[in-house]
Amino acid sequence: MTDPHRPPEPHHAHCRELFARLSEYLDRELDEIQCREIEGHLNACPPCQACFETLERTVALCRQMPSRPVSGDFARRLREAVARMGAAAGAGRTS
Ligand SMILES: [Zn+2]
Repeated sequence: MTDPHRPPEPHHAHCRELFARLSEYLDRELDEIQCREIEGHLNACPPCQACFETLERTVALCRQMPSRPVSGDFARRLREAVARMGAAAGAGRTS
């Protein structure tokens, strides 16, 4: 049983690149060209899009909580979460 809609994992390197910059993208720290690059990849890559939406929702939720100010600890945990998702997206590649 072969599924023609299932890609043979062709773009993991690109996904890892994207995840490395996702938190910067969420913080609007990237320039317009980099933002478009990421948006273009998200549109073409449903797994990345799903991860991004989860991350975005989490960040928005945290920012809405005045009783829990965004601290350095949150930033650190966010980066860890991003790194974990990036590792999952690029599983199988060892450096
Ligand atoms: Zn991707």
